This record gives sequence, C-alpha cells and structure tokens, in this order.
Amino acid sequence: MSESKTVGEKLQEKLLTKHESGWETISEAEKKQITQFCDGYIDFLNNGKTERECVKVAKQIAESNGFKPLEKYKKLKAGDKVYFINRGKNIILAVIGEEDLENGVKLVGAHIDSPRLDLKPNPLYEDTGFAYFKTQYYGGIKKYQWVTMPIAIHGVVVLKDGKTIDVNIGEENDDVTFVITDLLPHMARKQMEKKLSEGIEGEDLNLLIGNIPFDDEKVSEKVKLNVMKILNEKYGMVESDFLSAEWELVPAFRAKSLGFDRSMVAGYGQDDRVCAYTSLRAICEVENPQKTAVCLLVDKEEIGSVGNTGMEAQTFEKFLGELLVLKGEEKTPNVMNRIFANSQMLSADVDGAFDPIYASVADRRNASYFGRGVGLNKYTGGRGKSGANDANAEYVAQLRKLFDDNKVAFQLCELGKVDEGGGGTIAYILANKGMDVIDCGTPVLSMHSPYEVSSKFDVYMSYRAYLVFMK
Ligand code: MN
Ligand code: MN
Repeated sequence: MSESKTVGEKLQEKLLTKHESGWETISEAEKKQITQFCDGYIDFLNNGKTERECVKVAKQIAESNGFKPLEKYKKLKAGDKVYFINRGKNIILAVIGEEDLENGVKLVGAHIDSPRLDLKPNPLYEDTGFAYFKTQYYGGIKKYQWVTMPIAIHGVVVLKDGKTIDVNIGEENDDVTFVITDLLPHMARKQMEKKLSEGIEGEDLNLLIGNIPFDDEKVSEKVKLNVMKILNEKYGMVESDFLSAEWELVPAFRAKSLGFDRSMVAGYGQDDRVCAYTSLRAICEVENPQKTAVCLLVDKEEIGSVGNTGMEAQTFEKFLGELLVLKGEEKTPNVMNRIFANSQMLSADVDGAFDPIYASVADRRNASYFGRGVGLNKYTGGRGKSGANDANAEYVAQLRKLFDDNKVAFQLCELGKVDEGGGGTIAYILANKGMDVIDCGTPVLSMHSPYEVSSKFDVYMSYRAYLVFMK
C-alpha cells in the first residue's frame, strides 16, 4: 500500500495533524466496551441528579471497589484506598502511592453540581386557586428552557429537631410531575417581541404544585393548606421547615442513548457529571500507583466554586494534612506548599462542543468535536485569556505523550471564538497554589440546558485519559 503513496501524501502524513472520527479508528470489541461503559454512565446520570445524590452513588461505587472512609484508618500505607465526604455534598477519594506525598499527587477534579432551580426560603404560595413554589435559579441557565417540561423535586428538608428527610418526587413512572407554565402563542404577541433573555423572567419561574382547595369556609388559603397537609403527612413538615430545606428542581427526563446509532448520550447534568463519573471509575481502577492518585468531586462550581463544599474551601488541604499524619510523613515546614508545587492536575470539566447549527460562534480550527476524544483546554477565560489558567507547554507536552502512548484520543480546543466565548472552571484555584493544571473534559452539546448531549466515544476517552494519568 505504502508504495502507492505520492511524495506529497507521505509528507502530509508526517507533518500535518489528521482529524478523523474516533469511531473509525476502533474495533468492534472496543465499540462494545464503550457501549457497556456508557450504560453505567447513563445509570449514574439517572441516580445522581443533585450533588448530594452524586456523593451517595460515588460512595457506593467507591466502597464496592475497596475504598474505606478516612476515619477508619489509624495508619496509611501504599496501596490503601481512602475517601472523605464533606457535608454530604463533596467527596475526595485517594489511592495512596509508593512515593511520599511531598513529591506531589496526581489529581483529577470534577464538579457534581449542575445548573438548576432551587426553592426560595419561603416558597409556598397560592394565587387564584393554584398553589406554587417560588424558585431561585442556580448557575447559568437560559430561563426560557425551564418552562413547559416535566420537573422533579430532589433534596432534603432538615426539621427543627435536626432530622434530615430525603425528598425525591417526579422520577418514577407512577410519580406525579410538576411544571412551570408558559403563555400560549395566541396571547404571546408582546412576549414574543421581547429579547430571548427576557421572554421568561426569573420571578416567573414558579412551579405549579396543586389546585384542590381544603374544604373549610373559615380558611383563607385553601389550596396552599391542602398542599401543606399532604407534605405534612408525607414528610412530617410544616411550612416553616422550608426555611431549612434544600429542594432542587431538576428536569424529570431520564438520560438515554441518543441517535439511531446509539452513538451519543442525552441527559441532564452532564456538566459536569460526565467528568465526575469517568474520573470516579478511573480511580476505582488505580492499584498501587507511584504517586498518590486523588479524585476530587466538588460542589458549587456553577456559582463560582465558593462556599464550604466548593473548591475554594480548604477541604482538600485538610484532607492532604490528614493523609500526611496517617502516613507518618515528617512534618517539615511548608510541606503543603511542596505537595502543591510538585502535583499535577487534570481539571475535569466539560467543553462546549462544536455545533454546526451554531457554527458562527466557534473557531472551526480550534473547537472540540464529537468523536475526537477528550478535550484539553490549554486556557479558558474570556477576551485576552482573562482569568484563565494557561497550562504550561512543558506540561501539555508530557500529557500529549502520555495519551499518545496509551492510545487515548484527545483534542486541544478552546471555548468559542475570540471575544465570543469564555468560561471558568476549578483549574485556576489549584494552579494558584502552584500545581500544573489543565482543563481536560468531555465535549458537550447544549451545555447548561436541561438536556445536554455527549458522544459515547468521548465519554470513554475521558475515562481512559483520567485512568492513564492517575496510574
Ligand atoms: Mn462545568
Ligand atoms: Mn457549567
């Protein structure tokens, strides 16, 4: 075959980068592996629609793979598998390495919160015979996407006595559903003339939850009372218990395989549960690593990584501190600084994939494409790389080699055209502490929408990337 190639063809092969769909490069057996892996991923999406639920599922998966809670260890040695849960919303897993922590760790960090609607502290009200919940959106949403679709309620209510009650309504087939209504087109002339961002307003994102009045002439808000009576019977709560509740409204859709060829996954919350699931599965397969491998699943990324369950909290440092003590490593000055300076991280977060329908906002030569593997963003940020962690070329070179040597399909990309796109992840937080960090995640279509789309090939390659990195 090679004899028939022209000089130009040979040169092209040697010098130029080839872009092809990963599906064309793999065997039938590998396709099967990808399908199987993504069946597990789809289950994860359906069972983990909130950060709390993701932590619960992650804990189960971790325990069934030999991880034990930090407090169970009196001493840590190479090969031990340990996890720590912060307030039920944030989990850190580690496989202890041969080398001292001081030499650095291999960290993959993803987030498990997703854009959604939260209940306000005083959510329940009645208007013209309807009962509603008032909501406050969380993270970057397009508000018009949240009306006229089935909504489920997930969360907790913590009663005054401290008892926590889990809430999960609207997922099962025989469950009820909830919805935020929209105006019929026949009467929406003015609404339709508004800008897309103003067509549905935040204060109008009120969830419809009831319509039957409580039968008593003496009562003023009969529908509201009737709903509260039902909630009281079901959860033992009274209206003031909403003050200490966290009820998250999420799309009730089930995640599914997408397309006649089943090549993609459609589901809510893939930003960033795709990277959470793939990094979790990867660390479960790490045995006796050289350097300690860490998988970090954090909360609050969508609102700026703030708060005591987000990346900006010192939870990770505290965790490392505990490991140092349990490993009996000498506590020399600045040891924490040295861990950070010697560590490497993949900031595992999704990337906005190239969508031909919206091609005008992307630079075709630097976008991420479905089927080309995990996406590496050397930098994010906006405008002149503002606020970006710009990964060093030396680090990128090391990763290129690692991924090539291990047949991990990857692509270098950026989020949107210059001055058009831009975004942030948790990358800069660890980079600011001295780590080598690069954004490395799965390309996603319709990112931040109620029903995001990913490529099964890229999902699998993300998992493979995290695995070879931590190994
Ligand atoms: Mn994200
Ligand atoms: Mn996001």
